[in-house]
Amino acid sequence: MKKITVLGSLNADTILHIPHLPQQGETLAMDDASTAPGGKGANQAVAAKRLGADVNFIGAVGDDQNGQLLLDALQADGIDTAHVAELSGVATGAAYIMLEADSNNTILILGGANRQVNESNVAAADATIKASDVLIAQFETPMVATLSAFKAAKAADVMTVLNPAPATKDIPAELLALTDLVVPNETEAEIITGIPVTDDLSMESAAKRLQEMGAKNVIITVGERGSYFHMADGENGFVPALKVKAVDTTAAGDTFIGALTTKLDADMRNVEDAVRFANAAAAITVQGAGAQPSIPTLDQVNASRG
Ligand code: ADP
Repeated sequence: MKKITVLGSLNADTILHIPHLPQQGETLAMDDASTAPGGKGANQAVAAKRLGADVNFIGAVGDDQNGQLLLDALQADGIDTAHVAELSGVATGAAYIMLEADSNNTILILGGANRQVNESNVAAADATIKASDVLIAQFETPMVATLSAFKAAKAADVMTVLNPAPATKDIPAELLALTDLVVPNETEAEIITGIPVTDDLSMESAAKRLQEMGAKNVIITVGERGSYFHMADGENGFVPALKVKAVDTTAAGDTFIGALTTKLDADMRNVEDAVRFANAAAAITVQGAGAQPSIPTLDQVNASRG
């Protein structure tokens, strides 16, 4: 079984169902509010686990109710949480998703315990990282932790996958040099490279720019259009997304990354197959509400592919 370690964020996602965004000074009644486990790191871990990988998580929560909710959720999925620190006096990460009646959403994030993940958390998980096939990280936890985890991974020849989200223009060159595969969405690719990703040509230009910046292999996801891959040896291609009725696209990219890394061989020669599988998994996620509740199992993905 593929061993995947995810270093990343754990957020309690509270979805506030509102008629429209309130004006400054306005008091507005909500139609509904509900909390579910989320956070990019946790979502990617759940996707990898439900799709057949053996998953360890490195991260942090506060010693509050949300922290317990998130730990319970990972454990219910069978993810190893031995390296999730429980910090006293710090709030668990949270996201407040204002979902308007027209289905537009606006999100506020409280980093909380995610911002406290540090090099000593990574050092404590050194043996786990080195025993993995793949290490995945995003940017909702501090860069210093990601950098030391990627160093540990590459010292043991472990594949490193970076989801540079939320995007920053200032990714250390040292981190990209340690990255085997970088997977941004189109907005993130534009922020990082300065190249607007609008068509086939600009996808290729952005991918090449990411390679010039140090990443070896690149996959850019472009929402309902699909996913573009551009490998170290220049092999590239586009795999269209499945045509489905999207209800809530939260965790589409996270499902894609968890699915992709679970399927991708160590030499990445099966990239097109892995992308096809990841598109199919993400297409199921967008048809359900919420982050983790809508991430499919392997049986669901296989059934959807006929
Ligand atoms: P993110 O969630 O990070 O913004 P994207 O929106 O690019 O990422 O979506 C990631 C992947 O999820 C896409 O490459 C595609 O496979 C799938 N996906 C996203 N939106 C849809 C959609 N409306 N219909 C079908 N598949 C989708």
